[in-house]
Amino acid sequence: MAENTNNNEYDVLVIGGGIAGEEAALNLANQNFKVILVEKDLSLGGKMIHLSKVFPTLDCAACITTPKVSETARHPNIHIFTYSEIENIEKKSEREFNATLIEKPTYVEDNCTGCQLCEEKCPVIVKDQYQWDLVGRKAIYIPFSIANPRIAAIDIDNCILCGACEKVCPADCIDFTQIEKKSQIKVKAVIIATGYNLFDAKIIKRYNVGTVKNVITSMQMERQLVPTRPFNNVLRPSDGKMPDNIAYVLCVGSRDETVGNPICSQVCCMYSTKQAQLIMGALPMADVTIYYINIRAFGKGFCEFYQQAKGMGVEFVKGKVARIEQGEDENVILRYEDIIKGTVQEAEHDLVVLSVGILPNTDYTGFFKNGGVEQDKFNYVKQTDELLSPALTSINGVFAAGTSTGPMDIPDTILSAGAASSETASYLRKAK
Ligand SMILES: Cc1cc2nc3c(=O)[nH]c(=O)nc-3n(C[C@H](O)[C@H](O)[C@H](O)COP(=O)(O)OP(=O)(O)OC[C@H]3O[C@@H](n4cnc5c(N)ncnc54)[C@H](O)[C@@H]3O)c2cc1C
Repeated sequence: MAENTNNNEYDVLVIGGGIAGEEAALNLANQNFKVILVEKDLSLGGKMIHLSKVFPTLDCAACITTPKVSETARHPNIHIFTYSEIENIEKKSEREFNATLIEKPTYVEDNCTGCQLCEEKCPVIVKDQYQWDLVGRKAIYIPFSIANPRIAAIDIDNCILCGACEKVCPADCIDFTQIEKKSQIKVKAVIIATGYNLFDAKIIKRYNVGTVKNVITSMQMERQLVPTRPFNNVLRPSDGKMPDNIAYVLCVGSRDETVGNPICSQVCCMYSTKQAQLIMGALPMADVTIYYINIRAFGKGFCEFYQQAKGMGVEFVKGKVARIEQGEDENVILRYEDIIKGTVQEAEHDLVVLSVGILPNTDYTGFFKNGGVEQDKFNYVKQTDELLSPALTSINGVFAAGTSTGPMDIPDTILSAGAASSETASYLRKAK
């Protein structure tokens, strides 16, 4: 089973280092298959590593993710390439794929100790994409406090080449001469675990995102609720005031034909209910109102979780929000249809959270040279035998895991990754 990797040969290529990719890679590596895991970001962990707690158990997301990330990073049968991408994959024959791997330059060598002295000295401040633009970061930066690998990278587009980082680095690991590296790898099977994208609420013009102050996204609220730096505090962005009347608008970019995404994102009702409960803990005096079309509490323990939120005082209003406008004192006005009363209402809140939906990440459509992986009608990876073998795709030897096949929560992602790894293992064993 385990193969010599001297010639860049592996059993399986896993694309994407979120929870789905890690789970699939670990399952296979523990069966002694050699895995190459390619992650386009600077750190492993996907979206889950950025979450606060998880519904419905309210377990700390980082406490679950970081051991999994470390296990993946240290596994002797897993070879990880972060900040890397697959340019193309060619199927040569059954159980023989050739892929081109691109390693992007970070301009920092792997002997970086993560001491952050370079960050302190760097004079450039730009928006921090890992904190969803709520705070700033330097042009040389460690992506986030629990990043793995915990190695700095230079954002060359914003670097002013002043050399301050180079002067202060005790490990002498800054290297501005790095260039993109291309290499060829051979694998017998591929798992697509490229995850999802988030809906950009600016597309809904009547919500005036960007012009109305104190409207944030659910991912920005996740970051504020995380019990680690730089937040652990819920503050509204315009003036740093602690909000005391927070609203959630559900189905932003989901179940909405007008924005081209008619399907349910599966997780927004529950993550909003989770965040509302966490806010009640963080800001005991705050009122939280959730505007919803239908509450979809379909999973194990979800209905009880919803009832628990109601019991804690979270107000659920069955209403479709039509417009979001600027009010006085930097507050936000919601104009909505109250579906129970059959009337149009207005409400004022001091912070509004948009529960943005999940969209397909269509990167996978560009991977394959000779005949791409088929898409389903919503642009996720098509599951060719959705009921009986949900990990199969239109290419024999290519499997899909997690939200690359559609919106799902973490437990379903783990199940899906388990299915993908066991399908892959039996595919590889058939070769023996
Ligand atoms: C605000 C919010 C709160 C949530 N809260 C919860 C919760 O409490 N409980 C719960 O169960 N679920 C929750 N979820 C859902 C959860 O985020 C997903 O179920 C989970 O992250 C799916 O994992 P994944 O690995 O499939 O995808 P992702 O987490 O999207 O991981 C995909 C990985 O693939 C990488 N990648 C993408 N394209 C490429 C490429 N071309 N090459 C290489 N790598 C690539 C990405 O960088 C990423 O690391 C929440 C979602 C949101 C938006």
